Amino acid sequence: MVDEKSRVKGHNNIFAIGDITYVPEVKQGFLAQKHVSVVAKNLKLLIDGAAEKKFATYKASSNIALVSLGRKEGVAQLPFGTFFRCLPGMIKSTDLFVGKTRRTLGLKAE
Ligand SMILES: Cc1cc2nc3c(=O)[nH]c(=O)nc-3n(C[C@H](O)[C@H](O)[C@H](O)COP(=O)(O)OP(=O)(O)OC[C@H]3O[C@@H](n4cnc5c(N)ncnc54)[C@H](O)[C@@H]3O)c2cc1C
Repeated sequence: MVDEKSRVKGHNNIFAIGDITYVPEVKQGFLAQKHVSVVAKNLKLLIDGAAEKKFATYKASSNIALVSLGRKEGVAQLPFGTFFRCLPGMIKSTDLFVGKTRRTLGLKAE
C-alpha cells in the first residue's frame, strides 16, 4: 500500500514502485517507469529536507494496452476506443520499443 507520494503507508522514508504497489491501474512496465519519476524526485526532496507539500504526487493512469501482431500490425486499447492494424503496428510492432528503451538508457541504436 502506498500513499499519493509513493511512500509505503505508515513510513516517511520508504518508497515502493512497480507491480508490487497497490495502485488502481494495470500493472505495466511503462507505468513502473512513471512511478520512478515521482520517487526519484521525492527521494531528492527528502534528502534535501524539503517540505512535504513540495513532494510530487502520483495519479493512477488510465488503462492503455498495445499488443503487437507480427511486425506490421497491432491492437491498441485506449481510453476512448480500440484500434487495430497498421497504426498500432507502426507505434510498437516495428521494434517493440527496443530503440526507445536503448535511447532512454543512453545506448547506441543497434
Ligand atoms: C507476459 C508479460 C508481458 C508484459 N508486457 C508488457 C508490455 O508490453 N509493456 C509493459 O509496459 N509491461 C508489460 N508487462 C508488465 C511488466 O513486465 C511489469 O509491469 C514490470 O516488469 C514490473 O516491474 P517491477 O520492477 O515492478 O517488477 P518485476 O519486473 O517483476 O521485478 C521484480 C523483481 O524482483 C525479484 N524478486 C521477487 N522476489 C524477490 C525476493 N524475495 N528477493 C529478491 N528479489 C526478488 C524478481 O525475481 C524480479 O526480478 C508484461 C508482463 C508480462 C508477465
